[in-house]
Amino acid sequence: MTDPRSQLLITFLVNDCVAIDAGALAFHLTGEALLAVQDIVLTHVHLDHIASLPFIFSEMFSSIRTPVRIHATVADIERLRCHIFNDVIWPDFTRLRNVHGELLTFVPFTWRDPFEVAGLRLTAIPVTHTVETAGLVVEDGQGRCVAFTSDTGVTDEFWEVLNALPRLDAVFVDVAFDNANEFVAKASYHLSPRLLVGELAKLRRPSQVLAVNLKPFCREQVKDEVRALALPNVQVAELDVDYTW
Ligand SMILES: [Zn+2]
Repeated sequence: MTDPRSQLLITFLVNDCVAIDAGALAFHLTGEALLAVQDIVLTHVHLDHIASLPFIFSEMFSSIRTPVRIHATVADIERLRCHIFNDVIWPDFTRLRNVHGELLTFVPFTWRDPFEVAGLRLTAIPVTHTVETAGLVVEDGQGRCVAFTSDTGVTDEFWEVLNALPRLDAVFVDVAFDNANEFVAKASYHLSPRLLVGELAKLRRPSQVLAVNLKPFCREQVKDEVRALALPNVQVAELDVDYTW
């Protein structure tokens, strides 16, 4: 049995109002907490990152007063229109209206150009995955900065961008597979603890590193292997825990 809270699906909630990815969002939050999320930033359209997205609009249909903004690349917006909100897999909620008006609006972002979301400054950096995927740098008005690799294998530009930031408090890094499954990690463009070491060598500044996206079947093994690295700034992120910087 797999613990249902074992990170099958991916969502990071920032300041209770911005979701990075929507894999778990509407399965986890309900009512007012879900309505408070007015911005969803998608790193890519793999199912574990968008699974709950369609349900937001069916569950909250009559409650949405301001269209939920879905930030994604132009190509991913087209993929969502074509493959999800197509009146076959799911109703086309981009066309449907409630008494208040539109339910959602797509807001395209472009690579490397900072864009503002709910008072945060975000920058999308391409990482190395099986489909186009955005690593994200998130900066707030007080100079705090947290970065997310999203799903990535061995990559370079993302780490170069982090090295050039004025400040970096933490980075959430994909460590999906254990070392025994490194061949799977390489084939699917994810990282293992051993590959993580190579990636962190590219990060030439102190920062908290939080491993995420551990696949449920090897979660405990990845935890053990990350612990065995004995790097004081590196740990596996806890699920359902608030991190504050
Ligand atoms: Zn993916």
